[in-house]
Amino acid sequence: MLGKLARELRLLGFDTRYINPQTDELRNPMILLKLAQSENRIVLTRNTKLKNYSEVVFINSEYIDEQIAQVMKSFKLKIDIKPFSRCLACNEILVSVKKEQIKGRVPFYIFQTKDEFSCCPKCQKIYWAGTHQKNMQERVRKLIEQ
Ligand SMILES: [Zn+2]
Repeated sequence: MLGKLARELRLLGFDTRYINPQTDELRNPMILLKLAQSENRIVLTRNTKLKNYSEVVFINSEYIDEQIAQVMKSFKLKIDIKPFSRCLACNEILVSVKKEQIKGRVPFYIFQTKDEFSCCPKCQKIYWAGTHQKNMQERVRKLIEQ
């Protein structure tokens, strides 16, 4: 349900585990809560069945910007923002890589025009500053000003 929010939180640099709504953890709230506790995580959900547990933050809005704002407010996260530090696919912390190392692994135009690259140690996906990052910087700026 909150896949997009999970991705956005990773974009902001937060350690975010996403659990697919179809999995057992979500069918059984006790398993989910136990898992969260063992990993020292807080559950973010739009599942009304979980609403009354104290370890859970119920996300009120279905709109992504409002969801992010609620999370930031609930946890006073502003100071911890580390945008573009995590892999969006697997939540791993990215490591910066030298330009020579990624030759042939990114589109030629990107290789020619960018100088800073980072790589996910788990899935090997390569990241670089682009339009998406610019939009996100704007969003981060707004969140901080709120
Ligand atoms: Zn990855």
